[in-house]
Amino acid sequence: MNILVVGSVAFDSVETPFGKAEEVLGGSATYFSTAASFFADVGLVAVVGEDFPEEHVSMLNQKGIDLEGLNRVPGGKTFRWRGRYEYDLNLAHTLKTELNVFSDFNPTIPQAYRDCPFVFLANIDPELQLRVLEQVKGPRFVACDTMNYWIEGKPEALRELLKRVDLFVINETEAREFAGVPSLVGAARTILECGPSTLIVKRGEYGALMFNASSVFSAPAYPLEEIYDPTGAGDSFAGGLMGYLANTGDTGEDNLRKGMIFGSVLASFNVEAFSLERLHRLSLDEIHSRYKEFKRLTHFEDI
Ligand code: AMP
Repeated sequence: MNILVVGSVAFDSVETPFGKAEEVLGGSATYFSTAASFFADVGLVAVVGEDFPEEHVSMLNQKGIDLEGLNRVPGGKTFRWRGRYEYDLNLAHTLKTELNVFSDFNPTIPQAYRDCPFVFLANIDPELQLRVLEQVKGPRFVACDTMNYWIEGKPEALRELLKRVDLFVINETEAREFAGVPSLVGAARTILECGPSTLIVKRGEYGALMFNASSVFSAPAYPLEEIYDPTGAGDSFAGGLMGYLANTGDTGEDNLRKGMIFGSVLASFNVEAFSLERLHRLSLDEIHSRYKEFKRLTHFEDI
């Protein structure tokens, strides 16, 4: 196993201008692990309730995701998220968050996962993300995500976490909110001073920017004609990126740039359908050919 992910496994109810889905499979760890599974062996740590159907478990199993760390709470109810997107699909409006089994979740990392060189702390309570780091044995590369819910609710724990991660992946509006700085470049500098050596700011249909102490890299989003559901784009992006890093074992800047493109490829497929529908019927050949399209999309000659 080379990647450990800890995050949410959820039932999502989502409304977009193009349709709606009720209580479908979602969650940050679900999207991440499915995207990463194209490149690496993933161990998933999360919690679900008794209401979590076997068909979802077998779908994740089919992708080769190790589920020893998926804890099913007897009598419990799975985490639920309800969200709505308007024509500006970059902005998710959270209508309802029901933590359910998540409120008492205390992640225990199975022994077999503790030596994983790559760790992704998907969007969950930052106090839980910190507890995960206490259990793993000197991982080579740690990345984390978060959202406004935790930036507003647990800012101290989040700052503590940032001292201990290599890569922080966050949405544009959340980066500004966290840093309290309106300029994106200014916000990036402020965040890098909190600890991570690399910051990736996700900008929805405008792509993503990667900042470190000395450079900035810009990855476009794939220009899709039809986007059905942006839910999970951020986690699929992170899964493609981390999966590629774990597969190659290279965390240098050039490889991070390639990883960002693989992340953008996975995110672009994910938004083509609701829930994990598109990722489940995706092939490695399709991933590689869209990677090449990204290359053409951004190529221009030197002066
Ligand atoms: P994103 O990749 O940012 O679109 O993440 C979407 C996923 O995040 C959805 O499938 C939700 O189930 C999950 N999610 C939403 N709110 C939370 C939360 N407060 N904690 C953990 N996961 C969440």
